[in-house]
Amino acid sequence: MKKLALHWKILIGMVLGILFGLIMTNVSGGSTFVGNWIKPLGSIFVKLLKLIAVPLIIASLIKGISDLKDISKFKNIGLRTIAIYVGTTVIAITIGLLLVNVVKPGDGISEETIQKLTETYANSGGVQSKIAEATRQKSSGPLQFLVDMVPDNAIAAMSNNKAMLQVIFFAIFLGISMLLIGEKKSEPLKNFFDSLNEVVLKMVDLIMLSAPYAVFALLANVVVSSNDPDLLLALLKYGGTVVFGLFLMIVFYMILVSVFVKKNPLWFLSKISPAQLLAFSTSSSAATLPVTMERVEEHVGVDKEVSSFVLPVGATINMDGTSLYQAVAAVFIAQALSFDLTFADQLTIILTALLASIGSAAVPGAGMVMLVIVLEAVGFPADKLAIGLALIFAVDRPLDMCRTVINVTGDATVSTLVAKSVGKLGDPKPKNWDDHYDEVK
Ligand code: ASP
Repeated sequence: MKKLALHWKILIGMVLGILFGLIMTNVSGGSTFVGNWIKPLGSIFVKLLKLIAVPLIIASLIKGISDLKDISKFKNIGLRTIAIYVGTTVIAITIGLLLVNVVKPGDGISEETIQKLTETYANSGGVQSKIAEATRQKSSGPLQFLVDMVPDNAIAAMSNNKAMLQVIFFAIFLGISMLLIGEKKSEPLKNFFDSLNEVVLKMVDLIMLSAPYAVFALLANVVVSSNDPDLLLALLKYGGTVVFGLFLMIVFYMILVSVFVKKNPLWFLSKISPAQLLAFSTSSSAATLPVTMERVEEHVGVDKEVSSFVLPVGATINMDGTSLYQAVAAVFIAQALSFDLTFADQLTIILTALLASIGSAAVPGAGMVMLVIVLEAVGFPADKLAIGLALIFAVDRPLDMCRTVINVTGDATVSTLVAKSVGKLGDPKPKNWDDHYDEVK
């Protein structure tokens, strides 16, 4: 497999993983075998990626900011980033709402299917835990997210993968303070973070060597633990609406790349494809982040001054795929359970889905938690929430995989757009994973 491009190797791993999973589903004891002997390989891979996320964010953000010659540049990048993120998210939600209102996937669901799905999932741990988590998140005030963004202990923040925004806050604070004390005094610290940054990027390369095998394990496990195919089929129209909407988002990004970045969209896609494939396999933008950063910086040519800020922030707050899904899912549930939504309700969905996608964690299944908040915002009866979630639970995992691809593609596209707009898009400079292997072997 040596000469194949990485994305082909990953793709082959994925296809073989799916096939292997299908075979094992039909072999007695196959699922247990996959769970005991195959799944751990995938879990180790995801853990390795998460392991380097915090050091990577810190090192690259501090390097990125301290490379800036003045702070106003950072303000410029920051404002553009947030504005474009909000813009793309609103477009995603609008696409979702338009599609679901035209296709009306919820109208075709029979009483029988609703009954079956409710019996299977409404009281399951999965659905109940999403509702409980949503209640916990909702009980806080409107400015709580700002309070949550500021850590009271830097080390504690760095030791918690869920506190990504706190880590980003600390790194920006440190980077700006380094700029303010002047180049000479900050140099030792800057050199330290520069070097840490190089080392962590090499760790990404090394981890990626195992990616084709890891996606095999991840997908084989998804297949053996997937739901009853009949139920999946009943939800085909709903799932199809979400997937079609996500596909339109890809088209939208490609238009942005071609019009504003003036690059061939297919070239762009091929450069970031390993990150997209990992997003699909892991269902986690946070786990994919190190690879997204490496691809965007080394293979697309975005300067670290831009990518180091835009990508980690995007992984946490920009989730176009998730917000599109929330819009479709909320209206689908309302249609299926004959709950009328007014035009004002639909506008409420745009607003809450936007806020919810900012608040969603970049981990598998997070979008479903926030969906509860979106549903409650339009006055969906609390006693029917569990039934509503039960309706979409069976297809949540495959849709999660697809929406995570869009979340990651959105972040990569926006970072390229911002880089282009501030003159920070250069030539790609891919590195070889074994640059200095001969010297040390
Ligand atoms: N899994 C998604 C992500 O990590 C979030 C979600 O939609 O559940 O981007």
